[in-house]
Amino acid sequence: MKKDTVFWDVDTQFDFMRPEGKLYVAGAEEIIEKVRQVRKFALENGFSVIADIDWHSTDDNEISETPDFKQTFPPHCMAGSAGGERVGYLGELPIEYVEIDPMAEDAVRKLIDKDQFHIVVRKRSVDVFENPNTDMLVHLVSPKAVVVFGVALDFCVYYVLRGLAKHADIKLSLLKDAVKGLQTRPEQDVFNELEHMGVEITEFSDIKRHLQCG
Ligand SMILES: [Zn+2]
Repeated sequence: MKKDTVFWDVDTQFDFMRPEGKLYVAGAEEIIEKVRQVRKFALENGFSVIADIDWHSTDDNEISETPDFKQTFPPHCMAGSAGGERVGYLGELPIEYVEIDPMAEDAVRKLIDKDQFHIVVRKRSVDVFENPNTDMLVHLVSPKAVVVFGVALDFCVYYVLRGLAKHADIKLSLLKDAVKGLQTRPEQDVFNELEHMGVEITEFSDIKRHLQCG
């Protein structure tokens, strides 16, 4: 990998991002343009991107026809469905996948053993670190810094940062102008908790300036 900083794109899928999606995060369509800018900046400047996406089947624990919207949710981002597609600019770099079943270390190594990669990690729950391959992926990539953006702040974004924070020596930044929450609690509370965990709460323009200088 050429650069020490990786961009981490969380659940920016049709069902979350668009008002007509199956589990719309209110206001998420307002950040689609920012998400495009962040991805474009990353990909055009040689940075690698790791995205995670929901990839559900009807027997997943969180999928319910009578959801409580805390632990269970209506069917969304079903494997292979249009609602599970990521929205907006995805660049030219071939996208490769980390599957849900355990992968051999060599197979994961092969995905990242290049100057720049764009990887999508599939997951069946709100916590991408429940995919048995995610910790290995982070360990093998061993980035110095990870810049996180996407939805939903109070669920999957939170779990990405919590999981990354368990890996020592990664500087974590969250782009507050490229996230949206489901508002199960105030966004500021989530930001405060994340800051407490050592996450820098920042904006795209600041990260961009910083990376262009460095
Ligand atoms: Zn889900």
